[in-house]
Amino acid sequence: MTRTTNKTFKLKHTIADNVTAQPNDVLAAKQILHDMGFYEVPDWGMTEFPDRALIDAIRSFQHANGLRVDGVMKPGGESESALQSMAQHLQGMGRRGDTVLAHISPAEASLLKERGGAGTINPDTGLLEFYRTAKSTTNKNTSDTKKGSYIWRTAGDSKVRSSHARRNGRTFSWDNPPEGGHPGEAYNCRCTAEEKKKDCEKLKWEKNAAWRRHDDLREPIEKAKGDVAKSENRLEELRSDREEIVYEMRTAAISGSLSKPGPVGAISTIAYLRLLQQKLDEIDQKIETEKQTRDIAQEKLKSLKRKQDDHYSIAAELSRLYRVCMGEE
Ligand SMILES: [Zn+2]
Repeated sequence: MTRTTNKTFKLKHTIADNVTAQPNDVLAAKQILHDMGFYEVPDWGMTEFPDRALIDAIRSFQHANGLRVDGVMKPGGESESALQSMAQHLQGMGRRGDTVLAHISPAEASLLKERGGAGTINPDTGLLEFYRTAKSTTNKNTSDTKKGSYIWRTAGDSKVRSSHARRNGRTFSWDNPPEGGHPGEAYNCRCTAEEKKKDCEKLKWEKNAAWRRHDDLREPIEKAKGDVAKSENRLEELRSDREEIVYEMRTAAISGSLSKPGPVGAISTIAYLRLLQQKLDEIDQKIETEKQTRDIAQEKLKSLKRKQDDHYSIAAELSRLYRVCMGEE
């Protein structure tokens, strides 16, 4: 029953953004990254296409393992081999009983996440770990230890008092009991509180992953900014060189026309002007090339910023949902 991710992971082709990848490669990578907590399966399921979530998962994995963060996984590359050895050596490296990662199925992993696994990162493995926190193991149904909110559930029969029947399905906060108390607290009340905490934990995990993806883009953006600035400086230098040549050409032309029309002076002025014109053409060529370089750098910067904006809005929305879930908003 339990699907194992311990089997050898071996890519046939590169997985990257805008690359036609092998379906089997994509599925295997998604499976392993999912089992390790890096890849969230979208609502529509695990497909054989290298979607954005997979590229993000590769980036997160690379980031967590101190590898080059480029979202690319090549056959024989460092990310592939890191994933291979990670899958092999995970078991037995867990802290506080976190030995599950190497051999759990996606369903089990998501269950553990929902049940309030720690969501912290193991410093030895660099991976998310899912040992139970003290909070998630002491699950006493008393309001003073409860955080966040719950859904009121009645027994659903004719004996439910009408005031509680009206509360059925509604959300209440543990900090703020409705009149008569939380479910089960009123005399003879058989109502129960349906945990919402598991949803909160999932949101917490998702929002942290989204912020990590957002933060991962900082370095590439800084680098792209540097590239643009370098190109702009180079352009400025070239333009000032050009001005100097134009100035020299004018000067030479004026002095040439002022000089006596002796054959030697006239010829040397023409030759000099020709030389300057040649230099001017070369510089114009360099300016054109540098402009292209700058435009490419600017495009790259723009697309990285757009990506970061996307991650920002997702992360901000998840953070908001998390606060709502925890009853803080
Ligand atoms: Zn009741």
